[in-house]
Amino acid sequence: MTNVSLATGEQPLECALGMFHQAADRLHLDDGMREVLANSKREISVTFPVKMDDGSLRVFHGYRIHHNETRGPMKGGLRYSPEVDIDEVRALAMWMTWKCAVARLPYGGAKGGVTVDPKALSEGELERLTRRFGSEIGPFIGPERDIPAPDMGTNAKIMAWLMDTYSMNQGYSVPASFTGKPISIGGSAGRFEATGRGVFFTTQEACRHMGLNLEGATVAVQGFGNVGSVAAQLFAAAGAKVVSVSDSSEAIYDANGLKHINEIIEAKREQGCLPPEHPGDRLAREELLTLPVDILIPAALESQITGANAGDIKAKLIVEGANGPVTCAAEPILEEMGVPVIPDILANTGGVIVSYFEWVQDLQSFFWDEKEINDKLERMIKSAFKEVAAVRERDGGTFRDAAYTLAVGRVVQATQDRGIFP
Ligand code: GLU
Repeated sequence: MTNVSLATGEQPLECALGMFHQAADRLHLDDGMREVLANSKREISVTFPVKMDDGSLRVFHGYRIHHNETRGPMKGGLRYSPEVDIDEVRALAMWMTWKCAVARLPYGGAKGGVTVDPKALSEGELERLTRRFGSEIGPFIGPERDIPAPDMGTNAKIMAWLMDTYSMNQGYSVPASFTGKPISIGGSAGRFEATGRGVFFTTQEACRHMGLNLEGATVAVQGFGNVGSVAAQLFAAAGAKVVSVSDSSEAIYDANGLKHINEIIEAKREQGCLPPEHPGDRLAREELLTLPVDILIPAALESQITGANAGDIKAKLIVEGANGPVTCAAEPILEEMGVPVIPDILANTGGVIVSYFEWVQDLQSFFWDEKEINDKLERMIKSAFKEVAAVRERDGGTFRDAAYTLAVGRVVQATQDRGIFP
């Protein structure tokens, strides 16, 4: 849908590797350490059959990529999308390693996915696909090994099927095997909202840092899934003017601020689209990116702000709600224009931070209330922001440079402290 039209050098894996190698240069890493960190530790690629409702057999391809586990068990989402391919998952797995390191979570990075359009399957087909995929990757995951979570195209219900499948295959219940589960089986309060809430907290911190008043600031949010919709709601509640939101089909724009964010969320949930009757102009979804706003939140998918459209951006601040929405070709253009980008590996860590809380709660079978979760999330993500800002102050460069210096440096330190086996 998006990646095909990208120029060479702008695909997610090319960008992930480019960003890593720049950090490796800054940290003066030797060739051996570079090669270790530029590659995945383990790559699981599975092909599996699913019985369709009409009695036919369809074959699907899925992946689970383990990028690095030096700092702890691996963590990262599972994506269901027709765009999933091994290189995309490799990039996303590497980003999880850096994300967990920036947030100081005791985890390494992993990611997985199945090449499928989940909306084109019946509920029964989706469940059979999920349970079979879960069984295929079962030997490689677990609370001490690799703990998957939701990502694009997956949700709490899919995590419940996966946790049940893993538990059935083990012969006992293992709640800590997956995060982002329903509360009834060991999910955490606040997990659904966590990524959007984290985006909001990092934006608050970035505004403070830049001397930009969030109250009254205009905000455009690309993507109206659980990240974008929750962030939009929190921005509106904090007195910001959310002037535009978009889903995969279109954007709504009202220069005076969209009136009823909650109604838009409700309509999206119930009808699967932005409400046609809501006041505001209709724009093509990509037009949202170049609106004259203070804050732009790309929270849809990767490779949205590219070398081709970065020069048209008018926002004063970009906060990456999605993974990899600003490509490596776009970033230097934005830097030249003086538009700071708060990178994904800092801005969208809220999801994995609360996944970490969920895993800890499951392991100790002792649960916290939502206020405790949100307070801990705020403290953790804002402290990560401050650490990144301090490195940027010290070294210069972009927020992404600083976040990578910190993250890669922490993984290198852990690798050196553990030593190389044997
Ligand atoms: N899929 C989310 C991400 O990209 C969450 C991962 C997790 O909770 O493990 O950060």
